[in-house]
Amino acid sequence: MTSDKIIVRCAACRTLNNVPAEKLKARPLCGQCKAGLSVPHAPVDGTGATFDREFGDWPEAVLVEFWAKWCGYCRMVEPVVNELADWRAGTLKIIRIDIDAEPALAKRFKVHATPTFILFRKGDQVARMDGAPKEKIELVQWVDHHLPRP
Ligand SMILES: [Zn+2]
Repeated sequence: MTSDKIIVRCAACRTLNNVPAEKLKARPLCGQCKAGLSVPHAPVDGTGATFDREFGDWPEAVLVEFWAKWCGYCRMVEPVVNELADWRAGTLKIIRIDIDAEPALAKRFKVHATPTFILFRKGDQVARMDGAPKEKIELVQWVDHHLPRP
């Protein structure tokens, strides 16, 4: 990451904004319409209706987690996923997809295990983890490895 600017799409007027990284914590406004830009600090739920929009609103880096209610490993990693969303607020958006509620999205991303994590940078897949890490910390190390902090 050479730039310290993050691109955020305004949910109100769809304009892409370049926001200096240090301003992300201070409730940045859209340069076009002055609406508040949303900087997620927690995972957001993706559905067939919202996924492409949630994904496209955050071009920088997105971690998509496919999970299921009955999946014990998903519950095991949930606290780490929540912490990652907070620690990396402004640089990484996490979208969670319930594979039972959204089978079409699970099929689209060829998900055969839960949890499955797919990491995207500027719309391109940079890494994928099918199944839970052995240790929770491995998930954080995996993200750090593929998305080095500036
Ligand atoms: Zn706007």
